[in-house]
Amino acid sequence: MNNYEESLISRRIDEAGRISIPREMQIKNGWGIGDIVTLHNSDYNKVVIRRTERRSEPLCIICGKFKNCIVVNSSDICEECAALIAGKYTEYFST
Ligand SMILES: [Zn+2]
Repeated sequence: MNNYEESLISRRIDEAGRISIPREMQIKNGWGIGDIVTLHNSDYNKVVIRRTERRSEPLCIICGKFKNCIVVNSSDICEECAALIAGKYTEYFST
């Protein structure tokens, strides 16, 4: 299985014509609630979705929520997840 096949996720279009974008796919792309995406009909039977406007608040790359984030290696991590990581780090190296 190649990377393209591994990234395939199927969704059924509902009665209102909506689909949901899986959370893990949103996090992987840095997308979140409030972002604006643009749909482009690139070919017959093919639509490309691209984020065109980001919500002003940063999105935690671990939990995917908009919270107070700190930047670690160019990635946003919320205080809650940072504290969790710090606790695990301390726990791991103190034993
Ligand atoms: Zn978080």
